[in-house]
Amino acid sequence: MSFNVAIDGPAGAGKSTVARQLARQLGFIYVDTGAMYRAMALHFLRQGIGAAEEERICEAAAGVEVSIAYENGEQQVLLEGENVTGLLRTEEVGNMASLSSTYPKVRKKLVELQQKLAASADVVMDGRDIGTCVLPEADVKVYLTASAACRARRRYEELKEKGTLGTHTLESIQADIEDRDYRDMHREVSPLRQAQDAVLVDSSQMSIDQVIAAIRQLIRR
Ligand code: C5P
Repeated sequence: MSFNVAIDGPAGAGKSTVARQLARQLGFIYVDTGAMYRAMALHFLRQGIGAAEEERICEAAAGVEVSIAYENGEQQVLLEGENVTGLLRTEEVGNMASLSSTYPKVRKKLVELQQKLAASADVVMDGRDIGTCVLPEADVKVYLTASAACRARRRYEELKEKGTLGTHTLESIQADIEDRDYRDMHREVSPLRQAQDAVLVDSSQMSIDQVIAAIRQLIRR
């Protein structure tokens, strides 16, 4: 039986940094489910499909292949065999992912892939619906959050560091984060919420190492 750690929470709470490092420490595979939704979103953008065109989005989702591979322990997302990992972390792709992930057919396809991965390997998987929907039997569940202002500041610094800030400001990023939170928490299918058996960790005043240490306390093996 594989050992599964589920980390859910809103955008910018530090999930991917924490999950990636935690997985490395434990010798587990890190599965970034947001990157899968982003790869799908990139495909829709490339096809010139608008976020409101549900029928076209579902058709495009059904016909496209998203898969993942690992290079030096780092998750790579393949879209029709093309490694698109480096193209996924823009605000445009993030916003499209947030909108298109509300469609059940998009989710179903990616949830199946995520469940297969978790059944075949020890994983730390992060996303929005991992503890509630993808892996309801996960061995450890964490709901990682932080204030919207704090999350916006982190994303702003991340984009600035990468040189991909473009025309975005701290205020526009915070507004995007709040919109995304609202959509993630209020959508009909698999809304973002803390699973009943998940442990709440608020990272607003915590370093990455402190968050990882807190989660490791929950993993007794
Ligand atoms: O975590 P990240 O910002 O990369 O995710 C991009 C978008 O994909 C999120 O805004 C969210 O709407 C969606 N998502 C989701 N379910 C997941 C992971 C991400 O709906 N398990």
